[in-house]
Amino acid sequence: MRSPQLLEKAIGLVEQFAICNRCLGRQFAWLSTNSTNESRGYSLKLAISMIADQMYKMGEKERGLAILQDLARNGMFSPAVTLCKKYGSDIEHKERCQLCAHGDLSIFEGIPLIVERAIIESKGYEFDTFLVGSSMVKSLEELNEEIQGKFGLVHAETLKSDFNRELGKQLSDKMDWTVNFERPDIVIFYDMKNDRVEIRSNPVFIYGRYCKLVRGIPQSRWDCKICKGKGCGECGGTGRNYPDSISEYISIPIQEALKGTRFKFHAAGREDVDVLMLGNGRPFVVEITKPRTRHPDFEVLTRTINSHAHGKIKVHSLELTTRKKLQSLKTSASETVKEYRALIHISGEVSAVTLQEAMERLTGATLDQRTPHRVSHRRSDLVRKKQVFEVRLVKKDAHTVDGFFKVQGGTYVKELISGDDGRTSPSLTEMLGTECKCVELNVTAVHS
Ligand SMILES: [Zn+2]
Ligand SMILES: [Zn+2]
Repeated sequence: MRSPQLLEKAIGLVEQFAICNRCLGRQFAWLSTNSTNESRGYSLKLAISMIADQMYKMGEKERGLAILQDLARNGMFSPAVTLCKKYGSDIEHKERCQLCAHGDLSIFEGIPLIVERAIIESKGYEFDTFLVGSSMVKSLEELNEEIQGKFGLVHAETLKSDFNRELGKQLSDKMDWTVNFERPDIVIFYDMKNDRVEIRSNPVFIYGRYCKLVRGIPQSRWDCKICKGKGCGECGGTGRNYPDSISEYISIPIQEALKGTRFKFHAAGREDVDVLMLGNGRPFVVEITKPRTRHPDFEVLTRTINSHAHGKIKVHSLELTTRKKLQSLKTSASETVKEYRALIHISGEVSAVTLQEAMERLTGATLDQRTPHRVSHRRSDLVRKKQVFEVRLVKKDAHTVDGFFKVQGGTYVKELISGDDGRTSPSLTEMLGTECKCVELNVTAVHS
């Protein structure tokens, strides 16, 4: 039979520690749920008191009285105080529970005040859901863990979990706020040691698509190599190679609208500085750190971004998204299909038949593409297999060809044209037997 073992553990606890109802009940929290730790603790104390009284009356007077005295003193259990008095033993109960007292109060008695402070702190934040977090005072947490180990209390709840749950409950009761365990908008964090209430606002993720309508803008801010952003003679004191970037045009207005502290710009791949991004645009996600608002007016935001960018870039389809979507945007970048238009310069003379042959042989080809010379400083040197889905070539004049390329994401199209000294094969240069060079390139579609 297991129940006496449970009661023996409870009697042992009351013998050794000043312990309140809640803290006693917490040691058995996962037994008979749909109750509270407070009532579990009270019920255990009442059962112990009844057993001890029975002992006292049935010939185990000394042992029975000893248990009643522990229950009165350590257990702070008033029925036991009364019984002891009746049996001629005046017992003063202790003032504080050893398992939850911090300063003059129980940490649980301190909760209503923390609730008030959390409400004030949270006033500057817009949120729909919240979660409570906390750090306990070390000595209390350690004592609780030590007791649970020593008594083998396998169905106990931790002090922190009990505290967080109570704080969360009082907050949602008072404010009608909704708890969300997986993705709360904010975490109300209580640092017990330093008695500090903090609001930790989780990031907001905003999805959209951008078009780049002029050449010469890098996707992300490009710091001057020489001064690393500090400003030097080489960069005219600006600290950067290019005055603007797509990520800043898009992210800064979003950060301002959400009143965040920082932004991170993520896109499904990137085009070179001199390449346009046309068609339906390239998908991106902007991550805003510590936002104070979470529901921007996307129509207004779209207009703000587009007007601040002076027609250089354009965004559309802005909407809220999740971290999960951001991850799939990143991982699927090489699985997407992209379309390009290229203006190609051809050195030698090429017949219409040769051009037709090259078109047919490149369509459906698998490229072996070694990391191009021009990016080898930032990407590891390896050979990637890339799929070419479609190539169309139209002769404009003796040395100029208009090219259309539909390829797997991550393909270097400039090198598919030039061959990059044999590092990309097959290539247009290889097929035509004369040097080809991409003069102008536009991305016309990113399918995802
Ligand atoms: Zn306690
Ligand atoms: Zn510089």
